Amino acid sequence: MADPNLPAILEACAQPGCPLCRLAQSATARFLDNLFYEMVNDAGMRGQLRDSLGFCKTHTRLLLDTSLRDPLGLTIVYHDVLNAILLNLPRLDKAERATGVLDRLLRRPPEEAAEQAKSALQALTPRTPCPACDYRDQYTLSMLESLILHLETPDLSQALEASHGLCLPHLRLALEKPISASRCAKLILIHQDKFLKLRDELAEFIRKSDYRFLEEGFGAERNAYQRAMEMLAGSE
Ligand SMILES: [Zn+2]
Ligand SMILES: [Zn+2]
Repeated sequence: MADPNLPAILEACAQPGCPLCRLAQSATARFLDNLFYEMVNDAGMRGQLRDSLGFCKTHTRLLLDTSLRDPLGLTIVYHDVLNAILLNLPRLDKAERATGVLDRLLRRPPEEAAEQAKSALQALTPRTPCPACDYRDQYTLSMLESLILHLETPDLSQALEASHGLCLPHLRLALEKPISASRCAKLILIHQDKFLKLRDELAEFIRKSDYRFLEEGFGAERNAYQRAMEMLAGSE
């Protein structure tokens, strides 16, 4: 049976950047888009968001910066999260402070203070990963497994050779999987070629930046540093 992941992988290989980063980005955007239409009323997802204390920094930024934002859905989620934090946080109120109870509490033995800090820390620490990160990681693994499985077919191997290649985090992830010697060699060879080409483009940019060669003008190496930075770090 044909692998349903394959067409998307081939298509992503034809686009700039790491194909797995690109696939993961658009799948995560779809996940977040659907989340508020279908899942905010889903008790399981609401519970997961309470345990993760909302979204991670990356997905919070994404939700605030894009049209994925849904004010009512986000209000419901964060109302839930703050309720959960308040429920679990050690209770100290202002009336206690006014009557000097808090001052007496603050003079308690160090082990009691440590206990209080520990339970506050528990209330303020996510118990599960951000649901968008979780979805992205599972989706990426499924795509990566398909990519490795079809690595030696002409379609995929040519598409990967013609692409910008996998970013380092995704290449490491691929090499951490149980992988046949021939697939491992193929992955290394494809990426070695890309590192060499990119290294030469960076060298060419440096050479042309010398005032003696400035009139030659820059070509494709103009943005090689951006491609190198994205290749090394991946993109979210
Ligand atoms: Zn990547
Ligand atoms: Zn996240």
